[in-house]
Amino acid sequence: MAFKTCRLCGSNGGLRESHVIPSFVFRWLKETSGTGYLRNSRQPNLRVQDGLKIRMLCADCEARFNTWETEFANHVFYPLAYRKTHTTHYEYWMYRFCVSVSWRVLAFCLDEGHNAHIPDRLFPRIREVDTLWQNFLLRDTGGTKTTEQHFLPLDIIESLTHSDAPTNINRYMLRAVDMDIVSSADSVFVYSKLGPVMILGLVEMPHADQWVGTKLDPCSGIIRPREYVLPAGFDDFIFDKARKTAAAQDEVSQRQKDTIDRAYRKNIDYAAKSESFRALDQDVRLFGKGAFSKK
Ligand SMILES: [Zn+2]
Repeated sequence: MAFKTCRLCGSNGGLRESHVIPSFVFRWLKETSGTGYLRNSRQPNLRVQDGLKIRMLCADCEARFNTWETEFANHVFYPLAYRKTHTTHYEYWMYRFCVSVSWRVLAFCLDEGHNAHIPDRLFPRIREVDTLWQNFLLRDTGGTKTTEQHFLPLDIIESLTHSDAPTNINRYMLRAVDMDIVSSADSVFVYSKLGPVMILGLVEMPHADQWVGTKLDPCSGIIRPREYVLPAGFDDFIFDKARKTAAAQDEVSQRQKDTIDRAYRKNIDYAAKSESFRALDQDVRLFGKGAFSKK
């Protein structure tokens, strides 16, 4: 769906092509892939250079988001994603950036109709939070009240207690870009996965205290190695997402597979040092040949 007015401020000014998931994530994925190319599971037969874009925001709103985005990319995303450090401080921009991502994904999924799985009675709350986050992003007043933003840095999974884990779990955890509105009978959160970091915008969560160590402070804080506790069932949710990604990638045509294979072989040393190889290598350590098969 193409917007005529800015989805955030409502102005009629010319709309820009906005990234739903910010473009620095796709730049990092490309730079750290063994082939130097990206593929997108939505269009597996096209090498997507630059992620999903939609005419959604005016230039002013785009610029507003850019300020927070640049701080986040330089102080949080790049240091963690390039594995320069595991510890980083954040300031006011962190929470605002995460609200902006959660809101973009919420708006995109609502407007594009990716919401058939959400129980009807939760929609009034979701629309209320859409407006609440818009007001916060535009005016930085009123706070975000009953909603929360959570942030989780991801790393290699070295061992598994589940016997039914998907065989692409490390490739999903470290490399996948994903987004969704996720709901159960009484809870809703917005899920945004930016390669090796995860942002969760809690819309309605009766037991938010089941998330330990992930909640962001609106002003400042620190991301550091620690024990994170996630609600029961969250690993099943992630496994399901990983399986869906693997299924989409199995649809890649043989011709495309050959092209990717040639791109790898052309520069095998580079490919072996890449982050995409590191993720694949860890899946092979866990699952052996199973890392390449459908499951
Ligand atoms: Zn605007």
